[in-house]
Amino acid sequence: MARYQDLTGTIHGDFIVIEEYSEPDLVKGRLWICQCQKCGAKEIIPGSSIRKHTHKFCSTCICSTVKAMERFAGIAENINEELRHVGEQTQYTAETVRDAWLWHQGVIFD
Ligand SMILES: [Zn+2]
Repeated sequence: MARYQDLTGTIHGDFIVIEEYSEPDLVKGRLWICQCQKCGAKEIIPGSSIRKHTHKFCSTCICSTVKAMERFAGIAENINEELRHVGEQTQYTAETVRDAWLWHQGVIFD
């Protein structure tokens, strides 16, 4: 078993490591609660990703860019088009798509 390394307080890209997450992931190992220093959003990141610097950009910050929101709006429009075909009234917005994407990325909201 790998030697325990306390990552609390270390900085990785946008993030500062706040504390270890209570339950380790069976596949990814130890998880750490990290907070974006720019926007304050929290994400749970595996220790291996932190050590390899593979996850250093905040998803929320990336999503707040105009370009990202334009893409999400485009996706929402496609979904709405499909929904109209099947007679659904539900309408997706760029925000709905963004939140779904963030959820898929494992981003945890406060
Ligand atoms: Zn951020």
